[in-house]
Amino acid sequence: MSDVKVPPTARGAREKSKVTPPVLPAEHLERVMAWGGATAGMSYVYRPSTAAALHETLTLAQRSGRTVGLRGGGNSYGDAAMNSENVVVDLRRMNRILEWDATTGRIRLEPGVTLAQLWQYVLEDGWWPPVATGTSLTTMGGSAAMNVHGKNAFRVGPIGDHILEFDLMLASGETITCSRQENSDVFHAAIGGFGMLGIFTSLTIQMKHIYSGLLDVETTTQDDLAGMFAYFDDHVATSDYTVGWIDSLAAGKHTGRGDVHRANYLAPGLDPNPSQSLRLENQHIGPNLFGIMPRSIMWLFMRPMMTDAGLSLVNFGKFLAGRVGGVKRYRQPHAQFHFLLDYIPDFKKAYGPGGLIQYQPFIPQATAHDAFAELLTLCQRRGLPNYLTVLKRHRPDDFLMSYSVDGFSLAMDFRVTTENRQRIVWLAREMDEIVLRAGGRFYFAKDSTLRPETALAYLGAERIETFRALKRRCDPGGLLETDLWRRVFG
Ligand SMILES: Cc1cc2nc3c(=O)[nH]c(=O)nc-3n(C[C@H](O)[C@H](O)[C@H](O)COP(=O)(O)OP(=O)(O)OC[C@H]3O[C@@H](n4cnc5c(N)ncnc54)[C@H](O)[C@@H]3O)c2cc1C
Repeated sequence: MSDVKVPPTARGAREKSKVTPPVLPAEHLERVMAWGGATAGMSYVYRPSTAAALHETLTLAQRSGRTVGLRGGGNSYGDAAMNSENVVVDLRRMNRILEWDATTGRIRLEPGVTLAQLWQYVLEDGWWPPVATGTSLTTMGGSAAMNVHGKNAFRVGPIGDHILEFDLMLASGETITCSRQENSDVFHAAIGGFGMLGIFTSLTIQMKHIYSGLLDVETTTQDDLAGMFAYFDDHVATSDYTVGWIDSLAAGKHTGRGDVHRANYLAPGLDPNPSQSLRLENQHIGPNLFGIMPRSIMWLFMRPMMTDAGLSLVNFGKFLAGRVGGVKRYRQPHAQFHFLLDYIPDFKKAYGPGGLIQYQPFIPQATAHDAFAELLTLCQRRGLPNYLTVLKRHRPDDFLMSYSVDGFSLAMDFRVTTENRQRIVWLAREMDEIVLRAGGRFYFAKDSTLRPETALAYLGAERIETFRALKRRCDPGGLLETDLWRRVFG
């Protein structure tokens, strides 16, 4: 955890001005945490609700010699939405739906609109967000800045592939409109540009037409990583969504075994009562588990499982439960399929006070199997198993800072304690070598450990320089910064 310091004035701005910069009011000082809870810092937090107030905040930060880090829902696992000892602009109050056309499925919204707000707004008109992350607490601005993906990444790509246009406020306060036709270079770099080029103040996104509030779901188990990969490959053309949960403790010939879930939209006519299944109240899980236990305290029951022995038991039980009865087919509401984790409020608290770090490499199809087997085995050898391990299939995209590949990603959650923290960092370095050798990439939304030399190795000097040149154009004074930016590109 970072020490709480009284913020000094940002270096760049201090050098530029001989006048003593104004001191920001102490009542804006707040502790800002990474979602994973493994890092925190003090920042001056501002929460503008209009573009004019946002511009004022930028001006204030500039005058006081501080940099500005942008923050949506704060769901990035590491330091992407943190700006310790400087200004953090929390954009969640800019959360209005600006235009909605239920005939075309085009929506224009402010950046603080959350995924939960969005799907609940469009669902009853027969639409669904084209890309849904594992939590619906993300904002659309934060999602665009990271170019997030869903369990359908292999079919529809990341959210950027569905953004038609956006308005971007630059550090100067000027707002430019970007699309594939207009300011196309900024369009392709600000999406996935982790808030370093400007601030999305509005986004126009194409929704997906649906004919039912239900999905056809199929779940099955696979005995090993090869089985997992084969299942994904066999169903790529016929599934709308696919995701695998891997038992990270299974070793030897069982390495990579786990459950796979895939789901398909219902074609018109397959749902006997779509007007009912599309109603909001039929999407949610009730407030109590098994009708009695409040979901809000479920994390307490998960806590004892967050040990190697507990994990081993849970993984084995989950695998066995999947095995019994073989392949299972059922219909499930969209929200329950996508946002299961949201139904266990504060589930991350189960990891304990040290929080968690996620490591999610993206590796091309040809090398992914061997690389993931090596990563899983290495974690076991180092005595640092992952507590949640998720496999997804992806396709490439044309955004400048893309993390995606024609291949797979493996998201691995590590519980952090005072004793193992440094060992996780060393493990990440060893894993970086394996990922780079396999031609893999990394994802800033999940990252806590990437080093400049690793970023250079997978992104390449030319791509980074193109991004830096765009940053100099959009933000010549270097006003926009985060802890992630300073760690990896500073
Ligand atoms: C439980 C859980 C499950 C997740 N599942 C997935 C998943 O399935 N797929 C996936 O891709 N990701 C997933 N994530 C990661 C998450 O989707 C991303 O980190 C996303 O960016 C978070 O959105 P946010 O609004 O919380 O943004 P924040 O984390 O607050 O910010 C993300 C980035 O966006 C920038 N930013 C925020 N607002 C703006 C703006 N208006 N203009 C410009 N830049 C801005 C910030 O500076 C930061 O760099 C998951 C996270 C959690 C906690």
